Amino acid sequence: MKVGMSCFGCRKITHIERELRAAGWDYLVFTYTETDLLFYQGLMRRAFALARDLGLGVWADPWGAAGVFSGETASWFVSYNPGAWQVRDDGVPVPHACPNAPETREFMHRWIDAVAAAGAEWVLWDEPHFWSPGADYWPGVGGGGRWACRCRRCREAFFRRYGEEMPAELTPRVEEFRRDSMVSFLRDLIGYAAERGLKNAVCWVLPELLPSGIALEEVAEMPGVDVVAVGPYWLAADRTREGFFVPYVRKALAECRRHGKPLQVWLQGFRVPRGREGELLEAARDLVKFGAEYLAIWHHNGMSSLLPGDPAALERVIAGIVDVARRS
Ligand SMILES: [Zn+2]
Repeated sequence: MKVGMSCFGCRKITHIERELRAAGWDYLVFTYTETDLLFYQGLMRRAFALARDLGLGVWADPWGAAGVFSGETASWFVSYNPGAWQVRDDGVPVPHACPNAPETREFMHRWIDAVAAAGAEWVLWDEPHFWSPGADYWPGVGGGGRWACRCRRCREAFFRRYGEEMPAELTPRVEEFRRDSMVSFLRDLIGYAAERGLKNAVCWVLPELLPSGIALEEVAEMPGVDVVAVGPYWLAADRTREGFFVPYVRKALAECRRHGKPLQVWLQGFRVPRGREGELLEAARDLVKFGAEYLAIWHHNGMSSLLPGDPAALERVIAGIVDVARRS
């Protein structure tokens, strides 16, 4: 089993180098934000080259890009392209780009060009989703019970397809339209990335957390998806490893086996409550036992809002997880 970690939040090459040389990772998942796209292209190229020189796999994550992918960062594209915003069912525009807007796809193609030129090997399409009340980091946004997208483009495309106005309710037909919109968006990005020599992983977000419109099996069967990824964060969901993580992994593995795809499972290396760090080690052992191909840890020891209860204990457990993975 290969083991990797997220690499984000720091854009100082000496610090990144220290992180790359530590711990014995097989691969690093670099967040490549819109700020990186504008201001750090050279540094990211150096970081990717350094990782490759050390024999590490280089994965790029469109973290927070266009407000369609997850990530605690803002989108410049969305700020300057209000015409591409998603629109809620009650007509309120929200700062997350619509996958059906041509400029969203065009912008993501520029992102792919940049990470391919920088030397990435993989793209992790990180939790693509439509806006929902849980999708905003800005405090007090609200919108409980609302859904998106019902923008002009979506309504026009819906009318062309079904010959009727797009309802303001989340009917089965609207859900089908949303699903097909997301599938079309991802297929476009995956195809464009593959043409540039990149391999593609899609991290499917649990519908309890965010609506992607697509089911896990639809990701697994999607042509061009080289790895299926899931992040069953039982601590964040206030559930248990046995009751939440284990069944999710088993289900994901069954889908992956059916479609001949490897599985990547993310462990929650952030906001871990004090005293529960050892559960992550148990989860790593589960993944070895079940035969998952990739283990990854979403971890950062600097961002205040992600800090665990006991950072030192978590670091020790992460070292143990690397051991478990490397001995497998
Ligand atoms: Zn739309």
